Amino acid sequence: MYHIFAIRALPCGTIYAANTMKRVDRGISELALIEQIRLGSGRPKGPVRLGIGDDCAILRVPAGCEMLVTTDFTLEGRHFRRDWHTPESVGHRCLARGLSDLAAMGANPVAAFLSLALPGETLRTAMGRSWVRRFFAGLHGLGDRYGVILAGGDTAESVGGMVLADIVLVGSAPAGKALRRSGGRAGDVLYCTGALGGAAAELAEMSGARRQKRMAGESREDHPQMFPEPRLAVGQALLRRGLATACIDMSDGLSTDLAHLCRESGVHAEVQWEALPVHAFAARLKDGELERAVLHGGEDYELLFAAPESVAMPRKIAGVAISRIGRLTRRRAGEPVVTLVDESGGRRRLEPGGWEHFSGAAKNL
Ligand code: ADP
Ligand code: MG
Repeated sequence: MYHIFAIRALPCGTIYAANTMKRVDRGISELALIEQIRLGSGRPKGPVRLGIGDDCAILRVPAGCEMLVTTDFTLEGRHFRRDWHTPESVGHRCLARGLSDLAAMGANPVAAFLSLALPGETLRTAMGRSWVRRFFAGLHGLGDRYGVILAGGDTAESVGGMVLADIVLVGSAPAGKALRRSGGRAGDVLYCTGALGGAAAELAEMSGARRQKRMAGESREDHPQMFPEPRLAVGQALLRRGLATACIDMSDGLSTDLAHLCRESGVHAEVQWEALPVHAFAARLKDGELERAVLHGGEDYELLFAAPESVAMPRKIAGVAISRIGRLTRRRAGEPVVTLVDESGGRRRLEPGGWEHFSGAAKNL
């Protein structure tokens, strides 16, 4: 037992007995954690007039703009596994999910808010604290690249040993101009950004016997599952240049997200299989797995959008490849929402097969 004359709580949560300087690990308090988050979040700037530290954040609405708000869960065991995803990846993906929703509507990010529930041991052990630090390093790393400040949130201890995060993103867009799912018209051409199936292919690799720790020294581009890139610049360019009639981000997979766009727009879509851009990781999969990853694999966070045939669509926007993958046509009663056309002209119904909660098929990672 130590005789403690004075204690000094360091931000890392280690308490030192001043007379002996022996370590008594009491963990980190909620307050110290919030202070750590506050330090990492930087000073309020731009549209954030007041960030972490008060009861509410204060945001400035840019003149002539509307605010857009989106919220997304990141749940351990459902969206990530601590033994597969690195802490940086979990933080990155948490913010990327929200930013991708803003990208889909052509919005500019204004601020992020994070409600985070952590198991007690993450704050009571050095390893747990390191996990939390690295989680925020991943989150802030992505936020810094897009000038997004974490302006507030909530912190709680979770039950059941799970990490649960809920991110809220606020964005802005010129009034009346935000891209929507519902603007697609029969005759429009269908496009997508980047390549498809990479995130599903990397997940298969992470979960399989060939699982490798490939983190060190490799770039984010090598990890479509762990570090997806929200296509903010593309979405903003589509809005600014008036190129798209409808847009959605592919978080749940092409088949599922295209069905959403079709339903909201009241149209049918025809997708050409050979026109789909296949990610290099997915190209290494066996035929059936490849098709599944490209058509139904979620989490690529690429944009899927429609534009009139008359629009001369650039091959690249903001450095990101744009592929023409099909077209929207009139929806006839009793017909499928999406039809897949193969190389020889064969047509088949493309059922939504992507990520869906409460379907009984939602994956436990
Ligand atoms: P209150 O009890 O009034 O809701 P809190 O003590 O929960 O305030 O939070 C104090 C400050 O820290 C607030 O500005 C809040 O937005 C911020 N905050 C708390 N948890 C987080 C978090 N996980 N991420 C970012 N900011 C947070
Ligand atoms: Mg309060």
